[in-house]
Amino acid sequence: MKRWFRVVIISVFAIAAVSLVVIQLVQTRRSLSISDNMFSVSVGNAMEDVISQLDNDNPNAATTFNYQDLDSLIVDELIINGIDLHPVIGVYDGSQGSFLYSSDPRHEDDLSNSPYRYSFRPQGVVSTNQFFIILSFSWADLFLQRNPSIYLYMSIFLILVIAVMFFISLRTISNQRKLDQMKSEFINNMTHEIKTPISTISLACEMLSDDSISQDAASRSNFIGIVADENQRMRVLVETILQSAKMSNKNFTINPKEVDVNALVCKVLNSFKLTFANRNGIVETHLDADPSVIFADELHMTNLIYNLVDNGIKYSTGAPHIIVSTATDGKHFLLKVKDHGIGISKADQKHIFEKFYRVSTGNVHNVKGFGIGLNYVAQVVHLHHGHIAVESNLGDGSTFTVSLPING
Ligand code: ADP
Repeated sequence: MKRWFRVVIISVFAIAAVSLVVIQLVQTRRSLSISDNMFSVSVGNAMEDVISQLDNDNPNAATTFNYQDLDSLIVDELIINGIDLHPVIGVYDGSQGSFLYSSDPRHEDDLSNSPYRYSFRPQGVVSTNQFFIILSFSWADLFLQRNPSIYLYMSIFLILVIAVMFFISLRTISNQRKLDQMKSEFINNMTHEIKTPISTISLACEMLSDDSISQDAASRSNFIGIVADENQRMRVLVETILQSAKMSNKNFTINPKEVDVNALVCKVLNSFKLTFANRNGIVETHLDADPSVIFADELHMTNLIYNLVDNGIKYSTGAPHIIVSTATDGKHFLLKVKDHGIGISKADQKHIFEKFYRVSTGNVHNVKGFGIGLNYVAQVVHLHHGHIAVESNLGDGSTFTVSLPING
């Protein structure tokens, strides 16, 4: 999908979604405001009836004003007008600025701020003062009286659905973009990684075809070693890519048999001999696992060890110092590959086993790779019902520990 087309789609979708949400909000506000107005009118009607029964001007009003009767009178009138609520009730002397009566003195502040206030002159009170009956409804009562209809709930639900769908769509589009980017990076890297050994091998072959070099035993074995090393590098590379693609298939199975892991470690390290020599590196081994035979897939185990050692070398800045150790704890076989390289931050450690994930190294992105090696390693471990862990700190090197059940 072209970039401009994607921007247009997202913009149109965003405008439509935001408009829909705004329309729903306006509509909801309007219906709540109608409901509030109806409530005010009903309270007003009820209070008109109450006051007409108390007011001095009404010849039929009760002869003596009694505060205790006021509560039940108001509640009854509210019920008659369709409001089954018990508000806090107060009688306020406007001239004195104080309450003559309050059904709940703790709520006098609420009463003072309430909009439901009705002027009256109580029967039997001879005064020019202005009196008010004030009602205060609790927040919960006011919410309930709004009697939100099913439409209101549906509106809120639809707004949420639209928001969630919008968010999911944006995420899918952004993931798709990242995947596209990763794919093209992958193809670039793969071309580079495969081209390098091919040109090294052809250079070594050219040298070997030179009589003066091929007759010198030391040079000859050096160039043959280079060809073998580069060949092994390409083999693991192609193997990792192929196996990683195959493993995406749910029906993928491994082919376990008895494998001597200590022997595999030696075989793999042997193939790195020249690489270590070229970089003045050291490799230490502590192959203490006894027995060292486990039930595993030989091909995948070889690639697993190769990938871990290769990373240890790749991500060491100076001369690589790699320590490979094996041990057993009765039920598990433990393989540790430790390096003294650049290390991995805690944040990146959470992602390094994801497919195509490569730690962003800013302007020093000089280590080539695909970001599939560790994902492949993790899948091999998973298929063997094992566990892989990494311990690392930036600048302090890394230790990868693979734990596999001895009996598969
Ligand atoms: P890559 O082909 O990029 O090496 P991997 O899947 O093997 O892919 O590793 C993923 C990322 O994890 C690498 O890009 C690197 O940033 C980081 N990483 C892996 N192993 C090490 C290590 N031993 N030391 C430091 N960083 C490492």
